[in-house]
Amino acid sequence: MNLQGKTALITGAGSGIGQAIAVLFARECADIVVNDIDLPSAEATAARIRRIGRNVICVVADVSDAGQVGAMVSRVIEEMGGIHILVNNAGMLEYGSMIEEQTTERWDKVVAANLRSVYLCCRRVGQWMASHGGGKIVNIASIAGISAAPFSPGYGAAKAGAINLTRSLAADWGKYKINVNCIAPGIVDTPLTRRTITAWSNPEKIKQNIPLGRFGEVEDIASAALFLVSDEAGYITGITLPVDGGWLAYNNP
Ligand code: NAD
Repeated sequence: MNLQGKTALITGAGSGIGQAIAVLFARECADIVVNDIDLPSAEATAARIRRIGRNVICVVADVSDAGQVGAMVSRVIEEMGGIHILVNNAGMLEYGSMIEEQTTERWDKVVAANLRSVYLCCRRVGQWMASHGGGKIVNIASIAGISAAPFSPGYGAAKAGAINLTRSLAADWGKYKINVNCIAPGIVDTPLTRRTITAWSNPEKIKQNIPLGRFGEVEDIASAALFLVSDEAGYITGITLPVDGGWLAYNNP
């Protein structure tokens, strides 16, 4: 799946799933924009991409902030000439929240990180794509946006919002040749989930609820993202693809 001639902006690409997507897209010959809120993480990913031999820039921005998203996208268009692929991957988990104890500020922060960020980046990049022949957008949601999200109600609500925003944008932007799709990862071992996984008294028991018997690897999610941004997926838009080892099939929501 060759991405030669394409520039891909991946948010939250300094770690975990976003980093794996950036590296895989670079291996498929895309030029990469590494966004993260954390500069050292972004630079570490950029260094890996330079070693692959692709053009890369790092843009530090909080993608839940409209001003920072606007400045980031303007800079990328100026320096890279455009954005053909957008992966809205940045997000934060709030495991351990009970809604009856949660502050409104905490709710707003989690929803902003996981949903407003998707809206802001889609809006700004979509404007450019709409007037330049189209593009591909992939939003990284979660199985927590499809089934219940115990102890993470804001996270689950925000991910469900990202799933339906995907559908609405796909419907509105088909006329611009913009494909908008979503991935719902299951449990993937990354810095985001490591604390939670190690806090579980028996992670092996959790794996018994996963038909494929293991947690996901970041590469599992990256491969699905690569397919969705490829020409081979040109007639796919508005879907949410679970990449969960069979979790949703087995733990039927
Ligand atoms: P991670 O914590 O390893 O990486 C997330 C990256 O996003 C970090 O580098 C962080 O600095 C960055 N980031 C966070 N908020 C940001 C912001 N406002 N602006 C810019 N950058 C920001 O996490 P991960 O597990 O790789 O998660 C990536 C995505 O996948 C998230 O949206 C997450 O909700 C989703 N997801 C992960 C899992 C899992 O099990 N790991 C499961 C389902 C969904």
